[in-house]
Amino acid sequence: MAIDFTFPEHIETLRSRVAEFMNDVVRPLEAQADAENWERARWIEAIISGRAAAKQADLWLPHMPTEWGGLGLGHLEMAAVSAEAGKTRMGPFMLNAQAPDEGNMHTLLHWGTPDQHARYLQPLCDGYARSCFAMTEPEVAGSDPTLIRTAAYQDGEEWVINGHKWFTSGASGAKFAILIARTEDNPDLPQAANSAFIIDLPSEGWNNLRDIQTMSGGHNHCEIVIEDLRVHDRQMLGGRGQGHLLGQARLGPARLAHCMRWVGQAEVALDMMVSRSLERYSHGSFLAEKQGVQWMIADSTVELYQAKLMVLHAAYKIDAKMDFTSEVSMAKHFVANMLNRVIDRSIQVHGALGYSTDTPLAGMATQARWARFADGADEVHQMRIAQRTIAAFTDTGSTKRATGGLPL
Ligand SMILES: Cc1cc2nc3c(=O)[nH]c(=O)nc-3n(C[C@H](O)[C@H](O)[C@H](O)COP(=O)(O)OP(=O)(O)OC[C@H]3O[C@@H](n4cnc5c(N)ncnc54)[C@H](O)[C@@H]3O)c2cc1C
Repeated sequence: MAIDFTFPEHIETLRSRVAEFMNDVVRPLEAQADAENWERARWIEAIISGRAAAKQADLWLPHMPTEWGGLGLGHLEMAAVSAEAGKTRMGPFMLNAQAPDEGNMHTLLHWGTPDQHARYLQPLCDGYARSCFAMTEPEVAGSDPTLIRTAAYQDGEEWVINGHKWFTSGASGAKFAILIARTEDNPDLPQAANSAFIIDLPSEGWNNLRDIQTMSGGHNHCEIVIEDLRVHDRQMLGGRGQGHLLGQARLGPARLAHCMRWVGQAEVALDMMVSRSLERYSHGSFLAEKQGVQWMIADSTVELYQAKLMVLHAAYKIDAKMDFTSEVSMAKHFVANMLNRVIDRSIQVHGALGYSTDTPLAGMATQARWARFADGADEVHQMRIAQRTIAAFTDTGSTKRATGGLPL
């Protein structure tokens, strides 16, 4: 039998070391930050010390190959690390495995030239730089990148870029951006209109208008106006018209990386739900003894189990160099919704306490809400999943191929 649902011992050991690091280093910092309401400058100090501790603990840059200073983990192994780190707010950041840098590192590794590797990838891996990814625009549906209006035209050895981006996460303080802009007027395929550019920051013509305030406050998701920004031709990342390919290649594993962290978040919410139900007493028994509460616990447990299996299977397919598009899409859609449901049930079991900001649940709920539309909205994933299922049936007379290609 080839199916084995255990991790090898070295990954179990690694997972325990990550959990220990979160307990010993990250959670105390987060608790202190909350108690003292830290400003940005104090956070930066804490991140510098936390990152030094992560290097010391040999947990730095888990997702990158060893020649780049990383631990060289595959996606399955990363599931163990990210699910543990994702149980905290700052854990992934301390390991230098946070969005959007994690996805940008993979993108640069696969598409960058040696010069781009030296100038952009190396500082990112070393933790001396942060980056951002600028694709979404306020005027057109982010779900459909063929609508992108930010445009670049060639002027000698330079490209001149004009446009408007928003929700560019991490833009303030980033050393560079990977920007997607329209370069082709009449591409063979509508998807082949865009190209990617690396923009040094700050740059003349790149105007950071504001940190957009969201339902969970400001988190450095910026609105950017780009006016006559000039970049040299060597700043193009990948080839002309390959922006869509690059976006897709970046987004697949990046979506799954989010799912790994969301599994960790959901486990925190379920742990809290059970813990509260064991100590809160009402109408003659503890909440844990009420059937209505047990249903919430049971539904959350079953859904988290499904989510873990989907994440592990999608990660396995990426590592095995198999086509993972459908599995990542299904996992992203399911895990994002599971996360919202489990957090919501946990809030329900906590009552007024869950609605207060005395527990992490309120913050987790507002963060989880974006999971259902960022990196592919539910409905777009559902559309693609349905298209693949219909195609499988049309091609083979069975939908089997579309349900994970599993031997069942
Ligand atoms: C916290 C956060 C961080 C982000 N970080 C980044 C970042 O770093 N860089 C970046 O470029 N972008 C970023 N984004 C933007 C994100 O990628 C977009 O929100 C996402 O792609 C959806 O685009 P949109 O918001 O324009 O929604 P739209 O495309 O306008 O879609 C709105 C809704 O319409 C529906 N819909 C759309 N298309 C279809 C369809 N074909 N069929 C059925 N229904 C449909 C869905 O319900 C969808 O939720 C971030 C967003 C958030 C909230």
